Amino acid sequence: MSILIANGRIITADEDYKADIYVEKEQITAIGTSLKMQADEVIDATGKYIIPGGVDVHTHMDMPFAGTVSSDDFETGTRAAAFGGTTCLIDFANQSRGTRMREALDVWLKKGEKATVDYGLHMTITDLPAAHLNDMDEMVREGVPSFKLYMAYPNRLMVDDVTLFRALRQTTRNGGLVCVHAENGSVIDLLVQEALAEGGTAPTYHALTRPAAAEGEAVNRAVALAQMASAPVYIVHVSTADALEKIAAARAHGIPVFAETCPHYLLLSIEDLDRPDFEGAKYVFTPPPREKRHQAKLWESLGKNVLQVVSTDHCPVNFKEKRERARSGFAEIPSGGPGVENRLQLLHHYGVNQKRLSLNRWVEITSTAPAKIFGLYPRKGTIAVGSDADIVVWDPNREYAISAETHHMRVDYSMFEGLKVRGNAETVLSRGEVVVQKEKWLGRRGRGRFLRRTAYAAAWK
Ligand code: MN
Repeated sequence: MSILIANGRIITADEDYKADIYVEKEQITAIGTSLKMQADEVIDATGKYIIPGGVDVHTHMDMPFAGTVSSDDFETGTRAAAFGGTTCLIDFANQSRGTRMREALDVWLKKGEKATVDYGLHMTITDLPAAHLNDMDEMVREGVPSFKLYMAYPNRLMVDDVTLFRALRQTTRNGGLVCVHAENGSVIDLLVQEALAEGGTAPTYHALTRPAAAEGEAVNRAVALAQMASAPVYIVHVSTADALEKIAAARAHGIPVFAETCPHYLLLSIEDLDRPDFEGAKYVFTPPPREKRHQAKLWESLGKNVLQVVSTDHCPVNFKEKRERARSGFAEIPSGGPGVENRLQLLHHYGVNQKRLSLNRWVEITSTAPAKIFGLYPRKGTIAVGSDADIVVWDPNREYAISAETHHMRVDYSMFEGLKVRGNAETVLSRGEVVVQKEKWLGRRGRGRFLRRTAYAAAWK
């Protein structure tokens, strides 16, 4: 099978030029002007951008949590991602306390067999006795060279500082990268218990009990621990100016700190939690939506490379279920929101169209930088000869109204309901196969592959 994508405008993290692309089997095999090659299929991309498929490094498909399971599995979640121009995910295998990482990896590899586009896995560590430190090395060898640890959710996921420090130090030996959910979980837990004791049920308490300073403090601590371990660290879902200050300062000192934010922190706010009829529950995700003043700082930090990545933290739970749970108090609302389909659309519209991001930067933060940081580059994350043909033909002028009525995520609401964006994916290739063509699904369950990733230290030599 060969495909010629003709007359497109190729946008990568650092280039912008007109050329044709020739795809054979799974890879890009030629790029040039007026390629005169015979192809089984020709896609005319006149007036369109050609961008590398999006790489979303923070999703939770088919994840059991808080007495429920995230409503997208690897089939529906990867399909929705593809419709929005994202052709590669990194999801999380979650180690349960008292078990070994290998068990969690096997469980998630099984879940991932349904994937329609390629995916990798991080390993979430909840338990790390000294005798099991080598499990991390084993994961690196298995192509799972990144680890997530929580500084929040005491008694469930939270690890203490020593555990985090040990994990960080182990990555200096095995080349991996630690990702941190940075919030001061112990203090938040007290605030939550106090709010519940006072009869707090409304969704807004979710934000009121998780102050911005709790994120700033934990980021500061994570960075200090990484510094003591001489290890790099990646901060997930940064939501506050408080955290950005710490990250910017660390990076200015040459400390290898990387960080991501998510579209919902750029575009939604604490006010959304006050929506009537309990609709605020739709916006219960963690960290919570913040006061609007944080948004400008987040955009600015993307522009200045204080933040390198935008991911979605896609963790869909139906509104129906959120509302039912909310009756016993805001803390029972399963925390998470859907977004895997909308990341490129939102960043193109609110970033590129509104002149906050250049086209190159848009591609960089949604595809190239995450691929580099997580050991997938140049296989993913760019348009180049020899790269996987994960390619999006992007129509910059297509108008699209985001709605649960038309989205492909398996969830009964959209956090961005009614937003009208200009620019959307038109044709999407995953490893040389057209999986989306003008609103039509051509992919299939199980065609996505597990990606064994290169360790951070090896990728960044
Ligand atoms: Mn998450």
